[in-house]
Amino acid sequence: MKSRNRLLCLILSTLLLLFGSSFLFHSSADGLQAQQGTNDEQALKGFAAIQPIDVHVHVFKTDPAFQAMLDRLHLKLMNILVMDDTLSYRKQLAPQIKDTLALVRSSQGHIAWCTTFDPYKFNDASFDSDSIRQLNRDFSDGAVAVKIWKNIGMEIKNRDGKFIMADDPKFEPIYKDIAKQGKTLMAHQAEPDVAWGPPDPSDPSWSYYQENPQWFLYNKPGFPSKQEILQARDHVLAENPNLRMVGVHLGSMERDLDNIGRRLDRYPNFAVDMAARMEYLMIAPPEKVRAFLIKYQDRVLYGTDLDFLPDAQVEETLKEWQSTYARDWKFLATNETLEYEGKKIHGLNLPKPVLQKIFRDNAVHWIPGL
Ligand SMILES: [Zn+2]
Repeated sequence: MKSRNRLLCLILSTLLLLFGSSFLFHSSADGLQAQQGTNDEQALKGFAAIQPIDVHVHVFKTDPAFQAMLDRLHLKLMNILVMDDTLSYRKQLAPQIKDTLALVRSSQGHIAWCTTFDPYKFNDASFDSDSIRQLNRDFSDGAVAVKIWKNIGMEIKNRDGKFIMADDPKFEPIYKDIAKQGKTLMAHQAEPDVAWGPPDPSDPSWSYYQENPQWFLYNKPGFPSKQEILQARDHVLAENPNLRMVGVHLGSMERDLDNIGRRLDRYPNFAVDMAARMEYLMIAPPEKVRAFLIKYQDRVLYGTDLDFLPDAQVEETLKEWQSTYARDWKFLATNETLEYEGKKIHGLNLPKPVLQKIFRDNAVHWIPGL
């Protein structure tokens, strides 16, 4: 009789504990937040905890508030130089290098840099030797990588009036030097499919071509096809097995993960960054994207293409950077539903070790010196 009472008492108190705790859980702040989803502040905490590296930014100045954000997010950036004859502050290489060196030195270890060479000098007799001399000087000044841009393949012509391609023999000694110095080539070759048309206002890159119509090639005869440009890029990979290449912007294969996978399988010296192409991953079937990122977890680097331009407002810049990092973290690291352009996007909830590689370790591995 006594033991039966004790048993009854035990059952009653267990039930009380269960109901009581579930009631408490539902009314707690945690329970409410779980219903509303991760807010930006929480997302940035998760992001910062991984000591993230953004391998693709364009920073032209700094500010105490910007530096404080880097500290707060435990964030490292790779600042990429680009030669672009359509923007005044990108026309000249020497001032870009000078400004970047000052930026890197003031960043207390938060900013590394990726140099470039001047492809508009392609037709100069001393193009090769000048470029190599300058690159080696930049390497000794700490540059960890070299960028080539879409003007190779889509803009610059040789003496015969033909578009120069990434696999032009004139570039070969430069690639050999980059490989010999143990640096990484960041290759932006071609553009998203939409650049070759037809017009598609629903494409995530559409607004870019509204603002930069010179890169929109639909109904413009004479330009190389996207396939030709990417074949030249692949030829460089095949010819230079010792050269590490990161194909930026998902290697310009943003709508075809199988195609990226085939390139990654074929070329062990190839990886891709996600810069400015997260939106394409967000609108693709989530199961497919998740499987891709898990299968190629050692070959994808986190990058954003965020910029801090000379005339930018600091406050707006910080807002944009932080909301991008928060969004990307929620998309890759949580199973929440996000909004993008009125569409519901499902978070990929990637395993922790995969997040660690994408947001940090792959950058360290593919771009030594970071
Ligand atoms: Zn970029």
